[in-house]
Amino acid sequence: MKNNTHKILPYIFLFFSISLRAQDPLIQNITLSKESGVEENNQNNPCISVEQYKLIEHRSNENAQKLGLEITSERKALTTSLNWPLKSKDGLSDCSYYGISAYVDQNPAAGVFTDYNCGTNTYDAHRGTDIAIYPYPFFKLDHDEVEVISAAAGTIIDKVDGNFDKNCGANNLQANYLVIQHADGSRVLYFHMKKNSLTSKSIGQTVIQGEFLGVVGSSGNSSGPHLHFEVWAGSTVSTLVDPYEGSCNMLNTQTWWAVQKPYTEPAIIKVSVNTTDAVFPACPTTETPNEARCFNIPFKGSGLPDDYAKFYIFMRNETQGKTAEMKILNPDGTVFNNWTYTSSTSYKFSARNFSKKLPSVHGTYKFIATYNGTSCEQTFEVVKAEITANGPLKFCEGTNRVLTASPAKKYAWNNSISIGDTTQSITVYKSGTYYVTITSFEGCVDISPPITVEVVPNPIAVITPDGPINFCEGFMVTLASNNAAGYSWSNGANTKNIIVTQSGNYVLTVTDQNGCSDTSAIKISVFTPQNGVPISVIGDSLFSPYYMPVYWYLNNNPIPVDTGINIKCKDSGLYYSAGYDSNGCFSISDTITLKCKTTASTSEVDKVKFMVWPNPTNENPKLVVNGIKPGIYSLEIFDMYGRILLHEVLSAGENQIEKEIPVSSFPSGLYLLTLQSNTNLFLTKFIKN
Ligand SMILES: [Zn+2]
Repeated sequence: MKNNTHKILPYIFLFFSISLRAQDPLIQNITLSKESGVEENNQNNPCISVEQYKLIEHRSNENAQKLGLEITSERKALTTSLNWPLKSKDGLSDCSYYGISAYVDQNPAAGVFTDYNCGTNTYDAHRGTDIAIYPYPFFKLDHDEVEVISAAAGTIIDKVDGNFDKNCGANNLQANYLVIQHADGSRVLYFHMKKNSLTSKSIGQTVIQGEFLGVVGSSGNSSGPHLHFEVWAGSTVSTLVDPYEGSCNMLNTQTWWAVQKPYTEPAIIKVSVNTTDAVFPACPTTETPNEARCFNIPFKGSGLPDDYAKFYIFMRNETQGKTAEMKILNPDGTVFNNWTYTSSTSYKFSARNFSKKLPSVHGTYKFIATYNGTSCEQTFEVVKAEITANGPLKFCEGTNRVLTASPAKKYAWNNSISIGDTTQSITVYKSGTYYVTITSFEGCVDISPPITVEVVPNPIAVITPDGPINFCEGFMVTLASNNAAGYSWSNGANTKNIIVTQSGNYVLTVTDQNGCSDTSAIKISVFTPQNGVPISVIGDSLFSPYYMPVYWYLNNNPIPVDTGINIKCKDSGLYYSAGYDSNGCFSISDTITLKCKTTASTSEVDKVKFMVWPNPTNENPKLVVNGIKPGIYSLEIFDMYGRILLHEVLSAGENQIEKEIPVSSFPSGLYLLTLQSNTNLFLTKFIKN
């Protein structure tokens, strides 16, 4: 065998439980070879029985003879070098998949055993190298995960297939196997393969080095899935060689391997993140790994605290004193968690698992374990579909929110308004409930919690003035806002009402309790009184520039009663008037010093024909004057308020004037036309319809 210590050890199941703290409870399970599913053949259960050797030898030699191949019981010089006879199936992402469970026994004595390296990794009378597959050997068997390939080119000289392939111990069942003879007459026995997995090639056909031969199984006298790889230098079992070169190899001095692997290869050959403990049932039941690449947060694993997972490492040649370093790396490469495990004993195959809290942030993480200088890693995803918004979810009509999903490969948005957006972010304008289904890069799916968006209507701003919005300097108006949570006026005020005394465009912004707002504007005009406008003087008449009632002053004394637009010069002196200007503002005119003069003499006036025709008129009438003295005349037209609308200087060369009067821009009404020289004043009125 196999020493008995190892028969007992597998039954030891170590379970460390240090007080469970919410932060990082440490639950470490150490699962040894029995529980990890690796069973080994031993002297009571040899890979190939004596009877089977006889049969294989006989069949092979008979076939070789038929095929005309060399048959020799000599140990010939090495000419064939062997490549590794296993490979993992394409796509298997484990870091490795095998370990040596037994080498060739170099000690011919019964009851004792030594391997080529002077160690004890063999069992009494074992003639081959047992390469076990690990972890989950029956799972690997079921899924054809480890293939047997030709170590060297040669001819198939024996082939048996179709036998049961899930044996667990001693029996006399036939194995599925191949014997291949190389060009130099040496042979390799490939034993225990999976039922009906063998190459379709038949006895007599040749294979090249590396060619597929079958799948590792547990057919024949086998304790579990492994390849029994046995090398003969010639045609009989007595020509057995050990392909490994070593100081205790009594069979041959040189290695038969093209590249000989080390005696032990301490390594973590697989890491995984599991939803709960892996299940290692009794042989030959297939193991249940319970691995996962996706963890939806919150996560609840069977037998685990909330949001905890099992982190597994599977070791080959675990070596006492060596330390494994484990890390969980964040998506950005920083360390989320790390811990170590130091081997207290050596084992050929062992599994360790650690309960660790999963990250809670959505992303792709890496579980990496380093042992004996090499690392093995596996990525996993924490999937937590969430929606983030670029502002509060209650927002004002006319604005929007951008909703963004956790990063993923695919997005599918659903909401009460529309369905089918597939982008990471969407812009929403309307009230509704929104959620997103994401599919991560590893294919993990998660649905976000729904979020509710509420679009609230905006308030309406209304400005109410308490009086006219156009007024004269010295007056004011109060502008009142409607009720709101907040007020902001363009003049800087934050009160509900403002008092306005100056011209301007006043803008009010009201804000409601949701922060939604509206604006309104009002234009206020404040007029400056038109003070200092000159008084017009026509002959002895004074015309105020203002509207009635007009207050006249002579030498600063009011002229009583007379409130018309015009008055007659009463006494020479200083005149001014006060009244309402065109904006309705009370104004005071410029002062004028006037010396009263006499009107044109009756005789002279009587001789003059002076008329506007037609009168009333719809168009420009004509001024017709006859019989006046030649000279310079001033022509002026006043409206009923005394304002001058037209002023022209005319020259009468003879005794007459004829002139078209432009009135098209005048509004309908009564107009006063005056024509005066230094000595005379002529007046007439006309009406424009
Ligand atoms: Zn074996």
